[in-house]
Amino acid sequence: MKVTKYIYLSFALLTATSCGNDWLDLEPSTSVETETSINVLSDIEFTLNGIYSIMKHPYAYSGRLVYYGDVTGDDMQAVSSTKRTGNYYRFNFTKDSGPSTHWSYPYSIIQSCNLILNNVDKISVASGEEAYRDDLKGQALAIRGMALFDLTRIYGYPYLKDGGTSLGVPIVKTTSTIDSKPARNTVAECYAEIISDLESSTQLLSGKFNKGKFNRWAAMTLLSRVYLYKGDNENALKMAEEAIKGAEKNKFALWSNEEYPTAWGNDASASKPGEVLFEMVNLTTDSPGKESMGYLSSYNGYDDLCVTVSFYHLLKQDPKDVRLKLLSFDKTYYAYVNKYQPQEGENIADANIPLIRLSEAYLNAAEAAVKEGDNATAVKYLNPIVQRANPANSVEDKVLTLDDVLNERRKELVGEGHRMYDLMRNGLPVKRVNETDKAISKTKHNTAYMEYDWNFFRIVLPIPKAEIDTNPNIQQNPGYVE
Ligand code: CA
Repeated sequence: MKVTKYIYLSFALLTATSCGNDWLDLEPSTSVETETSINVLSDIEFTLNGIYSIMKHPYAYSGRLVYYGDVTGDDMQAVSSTKRTGNYYRFNFTKDSGPSTHWSYPYSIIQSCNLILNNVDKISVASGEEAYRDDLKGQALAIRGMALFDLTRIYGYPYLKDGGTSLGVPIVKTTSTIDSKPARNTVAECYAEIISDLESSTQLLSGKFNKGKFNRWAAMTLLSRVYLYKGDNENALKMAEEAIKGAEKNKFALWSNEEYPTAWGNDASASKPGEVLFEMVNLTTDSPGKESMGYLSSYNGYDDLCVTVSFYHLLKQDPKDVRLKLLSFDKTYYAYVNKYQPQEGENIADANIPLIRLSEAYLNAAEAAVKEGDNATAVKYLNPIVQRANPANSVEDKVLTLDDVLNERRKELVGEGHRMYDLMRNGLPVKRVNETDKAISKTKHNTAYMEYDWNFFRIVLPIPKAEIDTNPNIQQNPGYVE
């Protein structure tokens, strides 16, 4: 089958050339062959499986694309400067050394989604199969929206910094060839495209549990996040509320206080879907290996990234906060976030990677409500997260501030790739503080960059050298030009 050939070719090239130009990944002849070989719905499903397989790579959503947002903030850090996360934590990249994978993987994913989206409507569908077709199309739209969102927040400055007028990344909707030399679109244009894809996906996706696949509630939660980044709080609240309502009607539910410490290792099923709305399902037989979040986050693995002392102190303010149980200590030196727990019978490298959780929908709703000045609604959505962490706590009689919601968010979502973006999108500074604690005595900051905000040019990565060298229409990010 020619689809196989395309996916295999694209994936093989990606892994073989670490500094390859993604626009060259696809030979024009292969593209033409493939365009004509999506004939039935099973071809679409097969291509989608190939996309999920690219997503699960440790340089994509089983690793790098996740930890990037954590080690660039104030709550996590590289254990030492020589660790894999060290250059991100220390903002060490130049225009010549910027990583290519943050660019090439999302674009490879977008390429494959385009293949589906440019062909799916040409396929004739037997009666009774429309919902199946819609769900597949919805998955491709949601994944393309997610990949473009990640590219935009990695390479483009926050929307609210300048209303999206600065450069984002190229919007690519056709199947690119060796001759494609796209220019960058603005951040605002990228957001319009991301929102359009995600909105369409929510109309098409199934709301049923579908292991390892995008469902409607995951797409809605992601869309609510995108609206928050854009400062559209009304739609962020609306979308988060719809996600919560729909997900809970379909048996998804916040983990309980008792379940919380170990639920991360559960193997979710239709009868007990838990609270993860979208995850990378990794298996021992199909493992992302040692560069994955599981292995990087364990003292039995590469012990690559740990929590900062200041974050540990924040969480410890309430000694009964259940989230303290997710910290695993390496002697009295470092504390790791133990959210990437292997499923039964697996090794740590095979741990699934939760990407979108119901808890985030609650936090998105609470943040949007605070910004809308709707305290009752903010309390309604923040309280379940606060009480789950410690049933003795409540915010029911409180007037919530943005700080209250963001502090709860950092405690809840630490290690899941959010922190630096959460500060930057709100125009807030990262303040890395040196504190000490006997429980994690070797954890010390080791970076020249201790305080910065959205005016710091290094909060975005440089466009990879390979892209700059081969595409004359691509403009480098400011500050990285020299
Ligand atoms: Ca697993």
